[in-house]
Amino acid sequence: MRFVLWVQGCSLACPDCCNPHMWSARGGESWSQEQIWERLERARARHPELEGLTLVGGEPFEQAPALAAFCARVRAAGLNVMAFSGYTLAELAERPDAGALLAEVDLLVDGRYQREEHTSERRFVGSTNQVMHFLTDAFSPEDPRFQEPNHAEIRMNHLGEVQVVGFPFEKVRAAFDPAYQAKLRQEEKRQQGKRLPAAEGSS
Ligand code: SF4
Repeated sequence: MRFVLWVQGCSLACPDCCNPHMWSARGGESWSQEQIWERLERARARHPELEGLTLVGGEPFEQAPALAAFCARVRAAGLNVMAFSGYTLAELAERPDAGALLAEVDLLVDGRYQREEHTSERRFVGSTNQVMHFLTDAFSPEDPRFQEPNHAEIRMNHLGEVQVVGFPFEKVRAAFDPAYQAKLRQEEKRQQGKRLPAAEGSS
């Protein structure tokens, strides 16, 4: 079990990103590190099996300095840190503002989402260009959980709000995302148009 932190703001704008509502740096809610820490501690008290923190987004490395301090505290408390970034490890290694956070990440899944290379066969990976980097020995590449196909969790709260977490298949995403559904319909029509037999020549 993991404590997941969604970080608002991503300037990479990958086509078909499943979290476009997280692109704006002005969206989301403001939380202090102390508030997040209290939530994490409460979660840990309820779920002693909690293994670590996962950073998703949005783009965690666009708030790297604040997250570096928080992740250092998380790891000092005996938890591990996993992060998803649209930047590649090579790009992050060249950024002076990314080093402190990178040093606190045990497992990095890197790279933009590339829709032409979409895959659902590998857990935690949305397109085949993305790579899991085991930066410490906190995780093992041999862990059977990493051999599973991708999946998504669908949750509904007491207000009837639905949250899709993970990597939804196209049809699941379309069911909860009207804009994506319209796009799929357009694509289907385009494909059907291509398949129509050529009109018979008139006499
Ligand atoms: S890096 Fe991730 S959050 Fe940012 S646009 Fe690409 S897929 Fe979306």
